[in-house]
Amino acid sequence: MDDVSRALNEDLLKDLECPVCMEYMVPPIWLCTNGHNICSKCRKSVQRCPTCRAEFLETRCVALENIARRLKYPCINRESGCLELFSIEHITKHHAGCVYGKIKCPFYLLNDCSWSGLKNDLKEHAKAAHRDNFFEVATFTSPSLSASVRIASCFGELFTYYKRIWDGRLYCAVQLIGTSSEASKYKCEFTLRAANGIEQISNTFLVQGYSKDFLTNYNSGRYLYIDRGIIKDCVKENKLDLTATLSTV
Ligand SMILES: [Zn+2]
Ligand SMILES: [Zn+2]
Ligand SMILES: [Zn+2]
Ligand SMILES: [Zn+2]
Repeated sequence: MDDVSRALNEDLLKDLECPVCMEYMVPPIWLCTNGHNICSKCRKSVQRCPTCRAEFLETRCVALENIARRLKYPCINRESGCLELFSIEHITKHHAGCVYGKIKCPFYLLNDCSWSGLKNDLKEHAKAAHRDNFFEVATFTSPSLSASVRIASCFGELFTYYKRIWDGRLYCAVQLIGTSSEASKYKCEFTLRAANGIEQISNTFLVQGYSKDFLTNYNSGRYLYIDRGIIKDCVKENKLDLTATLSTV
């Protein structure tokens, strides 16, 4: 969105502010007999128009609804730092997974932690509760053959690393604790060395934003996947020589 459309968008959004909850209204938008608007959530909780005390009609404001469908809405967590804009079709899905709202601690992937809270509090939590798996370097290693989660603080951001071996295959991914557009400023190089110490597989991917479900990251294809046969050649004394190194793009 260019600066002009952004300014126009912002201007039009002002007319969409619900007078009760102050959030931006999405269709259906209801009218009072004097033409004031209210969002559908607040319409259920107030008897009369908060602006003029008149009664509400069973009529919707079609013109405003049509404008709303063409606008980009800011995230409900904008005051916590989420600056992205979304169309009506996408905003509900975004709100459900917004990293600036409440997020789960990445250790939920191991069924190891039930903490949830704000992005900015995760670092303190990780330091206190996952000290052995919290690092302040841009490299992850995880030699064990069991699933592992790590958290790293580097480049002024928090990253999480998840590795699992499932049905003999290896999956490994890194996500930024942030949105996908913030994450695309970083890349991660995965290197797996063979047990003979000579051969290695190396793959570089753009880092993904933090998603509630790590599997959405799998769908993106931006993760290291190594098939069974190769894994067999890489295991030495029940360990893997696998590293993931973060850098800026
Ligand atoms: Zn409202
Ligand atoms: Zn009114
Ligand atoms: Zn958001
Ligand atoms: Zn935790």
